[in-house]
Amino acid sequence: MIARKTVPLARPDVGEEEIDAVVSVLRTPILSIGPKIEEFEERCAAVAGRRYGVAVNSGTSALHLIVRGLGIGQGDEVITTPFSFVASSNVLLYERAKPVFVDIDPLTYNIDIDWIEAAITSRTKAILVVDVFGQAVNMLRLAEIAKRYDLLLIEDSCEAIGGAYDGVPCGHLGDAGAFAFYPNKQITTGEGGVLVTDSADLYRMARSLRNQGRGEASEWLAHDRLGYNYRLSEINAVLGVEQIKRLDEILAKRSEVARKYTERLQDIPLVTPPRIDPRVRMSWFVYVVRVDETVDRDKLMVFLRERGVGCRPYFSPIHLQPFYRQMFGYREGDFPITEDVAKSTIALPFFNRITDEEIDYVCEMLREGIVACRK
Ligand SMILES: *Cc1c(COP(=O)(O)O)cnc(C)c1O
Repeated sequence: MIARKTVPLARPDVGEEEIDAVVSVLRTPILSIGPKIEEFEERCAAVAGRRYGVAVNSGTSALHLIVRGLGIGQGDEVITTPFSFVASSNVLLYERAKPVFVDIDPLTYNIDIDWIEAAITSRTKAILVVDVFGQAVNMLRLAEIAKRYDLLLIEDSCEAIGGAYDGVPCGHLGDAGAFAFYPNKQITTGEGGVLVTDSADLYRMARSLRNQGRGEASEWLAHDRLGYNYRLSEINAVLGVEQIKRLDEILAKRSEVARKYTERLQDIPLVTPPRIDPRVRMSWFVYVVRVDETVDRDKLMVFLRERGVGCRPYFSPIHLQPFYRQMFGYREGDFPITEDVAKSTIALPFFNRITDEEIDYVCEMLREGIVACRK
């Protein structure tokens, strides 16, 4: 089968100005720990309406430093979602805390807030929520619950920079939030992440931990605590600065792509477009459709790929990953909504510069595939 076109799942949008900015940093002697990371941090904090930002070498590192910096560890339980990228739970395992999963809302795919209180025990230390696919969670409601039970609240906004719920920006509420900048994210630094917070203590701790546990004022080889090398280079940071300047433009472009997909999907049977809570301002990360249970989803993905259409299942439930099964004894059926959604969703090609012809081609192949892949 020869594909008529190839449409990748994702493609970063790096322009000439960004390339020039990276080259200009390369012409200076400061390739790490310099002015660009500071500027990038300020801009990230501003997007979330926060006092502080600490940029690091990945979103996972940002989440890890939040968990470690807030003192979550052995014996602590953290309520979180099984429908996420594995990193949002792995960072708890790094610190020997236990993820306690709560199933998701079948429409938004975010953690079902109604079920959180039932999962709270005397060992619960925190709630870690995820803005899945760029759809903000209701942090106002979560903050109330966290306050009532005296719990820490962490927002994994790695898929949702610039999004909001009821006007509250992603990463704005709770003890800290994280954004990520891998090349498939809305904006990229190549690799990178940032934590945002209003806490001066967490800010100082995270800056120390990312730099081998050095104290702010101490000598280069004085280490106050066990730390890591989670530093972000100036080369990556300057790319982030240039990208985040374009955040509004990029998010508007992505909204427009999502709108076009949703419009075209109206007359494709057995495919449901993403459903967005009317109180949410989306920061579109991926465009994930749900196919009817009468369609063989896996066969459909093969069909699409053979025709050059990049696609992927999003996500694979965390509790069913082999080492989670092994560590905690999870089995199929434990979180049925997550499992149902995970079995029936497909991420379609989605990036800033996708053309109308490419969108049309993807939808045409999807329409044919749905018919060809009935169970
Ligand atoms: C991308 C992402 C992260 C962080 O990923 P990195 O590759 O470490 O930057 C964390 N959580 C979620 C939900 C993500 O989508």
